[in-house]
Amino acid sequence: MARLRQLSAHEVGHTLGLAHNFAASVKDRASVMDYPHPLITLDNNGNIDFSKAYAVGIGDWDKRSIIFGYQDFPDGTDEAGELKKIIDENLKMGFQYITDEDSRAPGGAHPYSHLWDEGKSAPEELRRIMRIRQKALAGFSEKNIPMGAPMGTLESVLVPVYLAHRYQVEATAKMVAGVNYTYATRGDGQATNQMIDDAAQRDALNALIATLKPGFLAIPERIIALIPPQPSGYRRDRELFKVYTGLTFDPLAAAESSVEHTLDMLLNPQRLARLVEQNARSNKRLGLAELLDALFLAVQKDRASTNPYLMELNRMTEKSLVHHVLNLAGDKEINQQVAAHALLRLSKLDLILASFGAPADANQSAHYAYLREQLRTFRADPSVYKVPAGPAMPDGAPIGCGE
Ligand SMILES: [Zn+2]
Repeated sequence: MARLRQLSAHEVGHTLGLAHNFAASVKDRASVMDYPHPLITLDNNGNIDFSKAYAVGIGDWDKRSIIFGYQDFPDGTDEAGELKKIIDENLKMGFQYITDEDSRAPGGAHPYSHLWDEGKSAPEELRRIMRIRQKALAGFSEKNIPMGAPMGTLESVLVPVYLAHRYQVEATAKMVAGVNYTYATRGDGQATNQMIDDAAQRDALNALIATLKPGFLAIPERIIALIPPQPSGYRRDRELFKVYTGLTFDPLAAAESSVEHTLDMLLNPQRLARLVEQNARSNKRLGLAELLDALFLAVQKDRASTNPYLMELNRMTEKSLVHHVLNLAGDKEINQQVAAHALLRLSKLDLILASFGAPADANQSAHYAYLREQLRTFRADPSVYKVPAGPAMPDGAPIGCGE
């Protein structure tokens, strides 16, 4: 009901003429015209607390917008002058207005305008949501569905818990090579475009790398054992995980869809072209070689595990990473220095793979054979080599926007 109350206010806002303002959640839920992520917290006893999930009432930016749009000035007022005063006050109060086209694109550059995000700092909020998610997974049980409900329906409850971080990943990725900008007009004094702080970009990269860790991706055996195939009369619909396993729940494919999402966002060619551009203008900043090395190094470190499930998640993540880098290396439509860095990284990988020989573990040995074969067929003819597409995530956004 709190969500429907918020949504009703949002739609009334449209009726009054307001557009979406996706830069409102970074300023303490300043507008009902943002898409709100439920603010789920932990209470003093460490229990999950939904009491602040949705804001009550309209936001401060909404009030300022209505003051501007509906002010009934007395006769003889210099209306243009008075309206400019309202705008100047808005800017002084620190309100930003950034709408759909800047916020929806996967290659978007705006560091503060996102859909379904929360909080002032995207990486900080991502880490916070990851902690809430761990807590929710630890408490996940058959009690998450009503008595008498088919046990297979537990999977549809697991989806939003397991992927609780998905929108905050999008927000965090947009910090990397992010550009803070406004819809500045001549004379209003607003910033036109600024590269965001290098330390904030590195912080965002590290927060994203944490979503690729096998320990984060693993679903406890206890939960896997709870979920049967969908019963007769139900089917695997678009809100369930995509699977390779036919009828049964597939925890590896669920993890792969999450990894694919992080890498799709982080390694978006437009984002990486901006990274090359920003590094050219200021070469102490995070660059593409460093970013790719950090990703490969993180995956390499996770190979030290002795747990077979974590090792399989690690191999899946490395395959997904190599697929993404191969895609960049062979793409003729993108900044070719981005492709050049991808090629450089793949040659480093080739050398590393050659030095491994054949490990005793058949799973690891098969994995290296696969990676070497990918590199070989790509080299033989990049124009015919096709990177396997990973499983997409289940649909998530509650409101379709006809994209
Ligand atoms: Zn809307």
